[in-house]
Order: sequence, then C-alpha cells, then structure tokens
Amino acid sequence: MSATPDFNKPLYAPLAEIDPEVQNILDKETWRQYSGLELIASENLTSLAAMEANGSILTNKYSEGLPNARYYGGNEWIDELEVLCQKRALQAFHLDPAKWGVNVQPYSGSTANFAALTALLQPQDRLMGLGLPDGGHLTHGYYTAKKKMTASSIYFQSLPYALDPSTHLIDYEGLKKQARIFKPRLIICGASAYPRDWDYTTLRAVADEHDAFLMADIAHTSGLVAAGELADPFEYCDVVTTTTHKTLRGPRAGLIFFRKDSLKAKDLEKRVNDAVFPACQGGPHNHTIAAIATTLLQASQPTWKEYAKQVVVNARTLGDELVSRGYKLQTQGTDNHLVLWDLRPLGLTGSKLEKLCDLVGITINKNAVSGDASAQVPGGIRLGTSALTSRDMLADDMKVVADFLHRAVQVALVLQKEAGSKLLKDFVRVASTVEEGKVGAKTVIDLRREVRAFARKWPLPGVQSSKLVRPAGIEEDD
Ligand SMILES: *Cc1c(COP(=O)(O)O)cnc(C)c1O
Repeated sequence: MSATPDFNKPLYAPLAEIDPEVQNILDKETWRQYSGLELIASENLTSLAAMEANGSILTNKYSEGLPNARYYGGNEWIDELEVLCQKRALQAFHLDPAKWGVNVQPYSGSTANFAALTALLQPQDRLMGLGLPDGGHLTHGYYTAKKKMTASSIYFQSLPYALDPSTHLIDYEGLKKQARIFKPRLIICGASAYPRDWDYTTLRAVADEHDAFLMADIAHTSGLVAAGELADPFEYCDVVTTTTHKTLRGPRAGLIFFRKDSLKAKDLEKRVNDAVFPACQGGPHNHTIAAIATTLLQASQPTWKEYAKQVVVNARTLGDELVSRGYKLQTQGTDNHLVLWDLRPLGLTGSKLEKLCDLVGITINKNAVSGDASAQVPGGIRLGTSALTSRDMLADDMKVVADFLHRAVQVALVLQKEAGSKLLKDFVRVASTVEEGKVGAKTVIDLRREVRAFARKWPLPGVQSSKLVRPAGIEEDD
C-alpha cells in the first residue's frame, strides 16, 4: 500500500488528537448533561444506536430524489435504508400503507412545516394556527404588529386562534367564528407549550366547513402519539408533521406524513414529495435517516408504551408536587409530557427563574403564560419530563426535582429583593455576586451541590458515565 500523502493524514486522526479544542467543548457539554437536570420540554436524550447511525459514513452520500428515482448513482443501499425508514415510520404510528405515506427527508421540524405549507397552499393563501403566546409554534404563521416574523407569515396570510382566557384550553368556539370570517385554506393544530390534548373531531368539522386542509404538527408529542397515550391525529388530518428529537427521542430531523386518500386532494403524495425536494431542500441527510429508522424501530416495540406512560406519569407527578407546594399551573395539570408553571402570583418572571436555575444546574425555559401583558417578559416556565425519564427517573424522583425547583424559587425571591428592583439586569448582577460568595451564597451553593450529586446518580445514554472525568475548563470548588 502506498503511503498516505500529508494532505490526507488529517482524515485518519481521531478528534481528540487532531482538534483538542473541539474535543474539550464536547467533553464540557457531556459533563453538563451528566451533572444537570434537563427539564426543557422540547429536549430528550437519544439512544446510543441513533448516535452511532448519526455519526456514520452515510454522511458522505448524495441522494437527491426518492428511492429508485435518484439524481445520482451509487444509491443501492441508501434506497434500502430510506424504504426501511418509511416502512418503520408507518408501523410506529400504526398506519395503513394503502392510506398513508411519509417523507423522511426533512432536515428538522421547521423545514418539514414549510415544505408541508408549500405542498398544501399557494403563495398568500390563508392559514390559521394557535398563536405563539398561547403555546403555538413560530412556523404556524407567527407575526407581530410590526413584522412578519416567519416564512409562514411572509409567504402566506395567517391568523392566530387562541386559548379561552378562563379555562386556558383551546377556544374551539372562537376558532369556528374566526374561521367563518377568515376562510382559511389550512388549519394547523399542535403546539410547543400546551399541556392538554386536542379535539380533532371539532377541528376536522371546522376545516370541513371551509373545505380546508387540516394539518397536525405533533413535534412535541409524537412519541406519546405513537404509544397511543394521546388522541390519534391521523384519523382526522390530511397531513401530520413532526420532529424526531422531542418525545420521539431520535436524531434532530422531521417527518411529513400525508394521506394518500385525502378527500381534499388526491395528489398529496406528489405534492409533499415535490415540496420537500426540489422546492425546499437539496440532498437528504442519510446519516440522520439511518438514525430515524433505528429510533422508529425502538418506538414500535412494546417497551415504548412503558416509556411514554412514564413520561406522562412523571409530568403529572411533577405538576401535582408543584401544586401541593402552593404553585399555580396553567390548567392545573397536564395530559402530556409538559407543565406550564405560572409564576405571576409570586411576582417573579420566567427569565429570572431560568437564570437562577442555570446557576444551580437545572435547565428550564421561560415561557409565555396565557394573558401575559408583555411577550418580552414571559410570566411562566415550561417544564418537560422526557429527558429525566430517559435517565431512568420515576415518579418518586419527581418529588425530589419539585423540591429543588421550590428551593430555586425561594432563592430567586430573596435575590430579587436584594436587587432592589424588578429589572432582569439587576437580578443577574445580584445573582452573579452569589459566585463571589455574597448574597444568598450558601443556599445557591448548597442547592447546586445537591442537584449535581442527584443528577450524577443517573446514567446518560450514549456515554459511559462511570468513566467520565471532569474536563479541563470546568471549575467545581464547591
Ligand atoms: C420544535 C417544534 C418545531 C420545530 O422544530 P425544529 O426541529 O426546531 O425546527 C415545529 N413545530 C413545533 C410544534 C415544535 O414544537
């Protein structure tokens, strides 16, 4: 064998050897995931198998087009992979291949949604989605008074529907009335921050009244839908989109399911496939498709239902524990993997609790709660239990987590008082003095230490945690 020329030598060097800087960042992030409590509702921990597939040699291959209809040669095995992935997607969601098809190429949830809109609508056609402050997603037509914020409002006319301000459930009556005036071509259901299930029968009736398409974006809940733990949108919708990395626990990507026998359009299969490529995307990410395929195999197994049930039990328990400590939740509970915690009765903003929790190793995100006066200062927090469930935590462990959160709120209230103002920048200034051992230091440092010790009791998928050592660049003197 001839010697590898110098210009090709880097191709064979492991990351740690050729690029210690990036390796160190990776190690620090691994350490953070291992040492903290991940409560962001859109996140989860994917499997070792999905990571192996995602980091595989399939990344080298171009395969624009669909199986057996590619623009490049050499796609024999890629075709086999994509067909397998499609088959498993239909199986995981219990769909009849005579009635449903799926495109597994979308790069992520947002691109899946834009491709779906491209398939269903003409430019400037009208669509309705749940408003962003009420838990909807940016890609469902979000705009502000001053700006069309997303492609879904730039290229289409959109109108949001809302929650009933007293029950905080979807205001289906309001939606029906608005639809009579707006006459949408498409109604989108699905959300990023809605703790309850959807009434698809009513949504279908409203869509039918205007001969509109009904699309469900189950990005957050698809893992629970596959398990049969939530109502089935496939019975009612023309198109269903999802991400594959939230409750579905796979790699970062998207899927678009389309009804082959839709009464609205007989050609949905062609419309969706053409919208993904060439309208919106180029070559598929075959390494990701391999990771989706192995994820869907997992989601078709009997143990998947146990995982999904546990995610919901954990969310219910976490919610109940917060309520029993006197806190307010939007709708006072949940049907799915997330709870929306309304902090407004405490006089605390979501941003402040998010910052404080970051200091102690609990990852959460600020979130609008219905009726928030300002979208800039959200009054709530969104919590999800997918990632903790994937680290083996059960209902009793949620009690410990609720207690950590309770202590974080108490400290945040003390710090807010110390700050002497309600401004986030003053809060951050005071919170950072905690690092120097001043205000509230003991409580914060104790809490951080306990959160770490608790988090490190649990395994982290894809990592041999017993072999982890604290990487350079992470200080832990407390
Ligand atoms: C997360 C999410 C998306 C977007 O997914 P990305 O992969 O982040 O692009 C779309 N719709 C809903 C409802 C979501 O929650």
